Amino acid sequence: MALFFDWFTQNLNEAFSELLNPKKRVSILYLLSAVVFAITWYVGKYGRQGLKPSVQWLSPSVWWHASSRQDYALWLINKFFFSLLAPKLLSQAAIATWIYYQGLSGVISFPSIVLATHWVIALFTLSFFLLDDFSRFLIHWLMHRSPLLWAFHQVHHSATTMTPFTVFRTHPIEGLLFSLRSAISQGIVIGLFAATFPQQISLFTVYGVLVSTYFFNLLGANLRHSTLPISYGKSIESVFISPAQHQLHHSLNPIHFDCNFGVTLAVWDRLFGTLRYGDDHQEIQFGVAGKIRNAKLVGLYCLPFQIAWRIFIRKLKTTLNSLYNTLTTSK
Ligand SMILES: [Zn+2]
Ligand SMILES: [Zn+2]
Repeated sequence: MALFFDWFTQNLNEAFSELLNPKKRVSILYLLSAVVFAITWYVGKYGRQGLKPSVQWLSPSVWWHASSRQDYALWLINKFFFSLLAPKLLSQAAIATWIYYQGLSGVISFPSIVLATHWVIALFTLSFFLLDDFSRFLIHWLMHRSPLLWAFHQVHHSATTMTPFTVFRTHPIEGLLFSLRSAISQGIVIGLFAATFPQQISLFTVYGVLVSTYFFNLLGANLRHSTLPISYGKSIESVFISPAQHQLHHSLNPIHFDCNFGVTLAVWDRLFGTLRYGDDHQEIQFGVAGKIRNAKLVGLYCLPFQIAWRIFIRKLKTTLNSLYNTLTTSK
């Protein structure tokens, strides 16, 4: 019992210490900078009138909304779940080490390229960022394409109002997929660069955070999950995803379905034909249709398994039927 209590309080402490840690998206630093960014943006564009949307968003009716309270609960429960699972998950270090030793043992031959260290760091940081951002886009796109994966991803979309904590509103199965994604994408870049440029690699970081992530977080990344439809305008939104664009992705209206899967860059959406521009005045109702929309906390964890199981059984029946038909017609 004492052991459980220690583990519980340690995890609770860690969760709340994230609020002070600049490596975490929801640190106070980024939450405050998002508010400053929003106020500056709106007041700069619309004068004093522009204060209204930010004040509305900061009200308890949003931050203590039933949907936001579920976000906080999912954040904490998932934290406990992953603290038990973390040692068993595949790590980026394992993949990087495996690739590196493939080079040393001659299974893969890496070119010997001589580059000044500052170029290696710049190239490594850029590759790290690009593969990370693209793999996030790809997994997200797949989660909307595959009915089985959508069964779990719809938990994130079931938010009916949004605060930065909505980013944690995910089913643990989605959390597992994303943890596997980050281990693979980061492990590949680290392994390839470590084998090609031994002793030379390091990342451009600020407070230990990748430079691109730091500025992305500082400049309103948290506003993507908010009720503030900040649009950067078409030319910037063709390159970077704005808060208004991610909010379109969360729309309940079918005319907005399957757009803006990107996290930082919009170029992947352009390539896949899924880019949609935002608008400062868009009025979006967030959420998903179906049972999950009004689910309580237990439902958010259990319903996706139930839906996924039904899809799996339906698929199995169709496959067995077509196999039976093929066998009987070939006789
Ligand atoms: Zn989505
Ligand atoms: Zn989202």
